[in-house]
Amino acid sequence: MILIFLGPPGSGKGTQAKLLAERLGTPHISLGDMLREEVRAGSEIGKRAKEIMEAGRLVPDDLTIELTRKRIGAPDCKKGFIIDGFPRSMAQAEAFDRMTDKTGRVIYFRIPEDQAVERLLGRAKLEGRADDNEKSIRTRFEVYEKQTRPLTLHYAGMEKLVEIDASQSIDQVFQQLLKIL
Ligand code: AMP
Repeated sequence: MILIFLGPPGSGKGTQAKLLAERLGTPHISLGDMLREEVRAGSEIGKRAKEIMEAGRLVPDDLTIELTRKRIGAPDCKKGFIIDGFPRSMAQAEAFDRMTDKTGRVIYFRIPEDQAVERLLGRAKLEGRADDNEKSIRTRFEVYEKQTRPLTLHYAGMEKLVEIDASQSIDQVFQQLLKIL
């Protein structure tokens, strides 16, 4: 089964995707991780994405759609996977709908913005991510509201959306996930 994890930055979707993928023994696809890897490697994609990511904006759809198409075409994704950080725009969602008809559920991580910002600032100290600074965080929330949040309506219309309370602890959120599945 294909699971999409959708939610604002700092909602913990990456952490939960990793945990659940380990538990289920299924691949975890993180577009953010894949893009950071391209930046580290200094590839053409990485060069196009670096500044955009640091500013907290979305890298162009053609780029993320191609990366995703290639990744989910790999043999390990045949039976399903968990994808987080994609889709993030309506164009991406429509492209993904065309790529696969097997999307099972879309888990929506609901969290108050203040709490998510606090988490991100805490993470900045620990991991030193280039985009976990106040200015970039603000931009990422604006981008989320404008471009990504409308996807909840798209998937609710397809009766695929399931909401969880992402304000709780890592363990509590994980328990919610297991219950849903
Ligand atoms: P994340 O690790 O999911 O927070 O992603 C980090 C950054 O990578 C985002 O702020 C965007 O700049 C870029 N990014 C990740 N996923 C996407 C996507 N689906 N579409 C466009 N940009 C993305």
